[in-house]
Amino acid sequence: MAPTYTNSNGQPITPDAFATQRIGQHGPLLLQDFNLIDSLAHFDRERIPERVVHAKGSGAFGVFEVTDDITDVCSAKFLDTIGKKTRIFTRFSTVGGESGSADTARDPRGFATKFYTEEGNLDLVYNNTPVFFIRDPSKFPHFIHTQKRNPETHLKDANMFWDYLTTNPESVHQVMVLFSDRGTPASYREMNGYSGHTYKWSNKNGDWRYVQVHFISDQGVKTLTNEEAGQLAGSNPDHAQEDLFKNIAAGNYPSWTCYIQTMTEQEAKEAEFSVFDLTKVWPHKKYPMRRFGKFTLNENPKNYFSEVEQAAFSPAHTVPYMEPSADPVLQSRLFSYPDTHRHRLGTNYTQIPVNCPVAGRVFAPHIRDGAMCVNGNLGSHPNYLASDKPVEFQQYSIQQDQEVWNGAACPFHWKATDADFKQATDLYNVLARYPNQQKNLAHNVAVHVANADAWVQDKVFDYFTKVAKELGDAIKKETLELSPRK
Ligand code: NDP
Repeated sequence: MAPTYTNSNGQPITPDAFATQRIGQHGPLLLQDFNLIDSLAHFDRERIPERVVHAKGSGAFGVFEVTDDITDVCSAKFLDTIGKKTRIFTRFSTVGGESGSADTARDPRGFATKFYTEEGNLDLVYNNTPVFFIRDPSKFPHFIHTQKRNPETHLKDANMFWDYLTTNPESVHQVMVLFSDRGTPASYREMNGYSGHTYKWSNKNGDWRYVQVHFISDQGVKTLTNEEAGQLAGSNPDHAQEDLFKNIAAGNYPSWTCYIQTMTEQEAKEAEFSVFDLTKVWPHKKYPMRRFGKFTLNENPKNYFSEVEQAAFSPAHTVPYMEPSADPVLQSRLFSYPDTHRHRLGTNYTQIPVNCPVAGRVFAPHIRDGAMCVNGNLGSHPNYLASDKPVEFQQYSIQQDQEVWNGAACPFHWKATDADFKQATDLYNVLARYPNQQKNLAHNVAVHVANADAWVQDKVFDYFTKVAKELGDAIKKETLELSPRK
């Protein structure tokens, strides 16, 4: 039976959905016409603030399955048995563009997964690159502004893009990844996900490890050349959304195999880099990958706005035995992500179904009221922890024997040194293993920096010369061919 058309208040509107109320045949409209007024007023409010970063994205539901026992590293319940399955939701995104921007932009890709576990929601809010541009969180707004639009021209601006990066050279490792062909993935299905940050996972005995997580695509890593990405941006800007949706709809479910690398506190002290430095990877040979699971995306959202646009991830959404490390950028994200969701979706954003922990999980009697409180608000239960209504507390190690910090509050700015170029050089050498990859990197930089002024170009040539002289030379040669100096 066809549904009866109603207004938003449920009142049946008959006989004509499009009829307005007016005085006589040609007179003005009536304020009492709620069907019209409500429809226009709601339409005026249809848009919510888009994410300040990661605005353009695609998502899908799926399932995570434990494949290997890592209970010696982590006692989170969803990992406690081989074969155990947990429902998940993953959202992929570009970072800098607006919500209508092209999916093939040269940009890192967000790769955020929410695990609806029996101990609450765990969000692993990762990227498709193992490192990042900054390690001082105070730089984030500065950095992002330079990758977005010039405040005067409202254009993307190669001068501010490269001026920022070259004056903050701890960025170089991530810039190398970004301007390799991995900066333009062929699809969301064909890229890896990396924690980037170091986390701390522990077991029931209180033993803990530093952990890096890798999601390796079972589809393989496939990339586009700069020219292919540019063409697709014009012919099909929603290419990655279409690819993900259609593959899942056709039953061609993408999957990723999950690995960890671990370090003890002593190993971290002996490492030649800081585990809290987001611009560094842990070399595979020294810190081998250990498999623990696999996840598959097998269910498209039924409604994009409801489930993808309103999805709200945060590294602060975690479960027992999984903790953040002291990485300063991670520490700042713990604040910034929930803060942005309160702004974008409202204080009760965790009540939105896609963000809601599995049924019956939430019992926080003091977290009440606020705009859009729709979950019953715990009814008549006292709005504080009441002595006559005892609650149970789950026992788990709070990891009292972890790192010990002390000292006065001190200014901290992690300035770059030449040592920050080492892993960028390592990556340049890795690229030699793949056909055309060193050449494509130089080309991808040159076509971008050719749009900058000469004083910025010179800084870029020096920046890449410090990675490898032949790379700096190749970039300079092609840049000057594309934008000859007068
Ligand atoms: P390995 O030789 O053991 O590993 C090199 C890794 O490079 C590969 O496993 C692959 O990672 C990754 N890779 C291949 N092509 C590209 C590309 N175009 N852009 C980015 N990464 C690529 O060396 P190390 O572990 O000693 O690392 C050497 C360099 O490799 C690092 O400086 C880093 O830039 C890069 N890398 C390292 C990772 C790590 O966690 N150790 C992860 C990713 C990159 P994958 O298998 O994840 O695709």
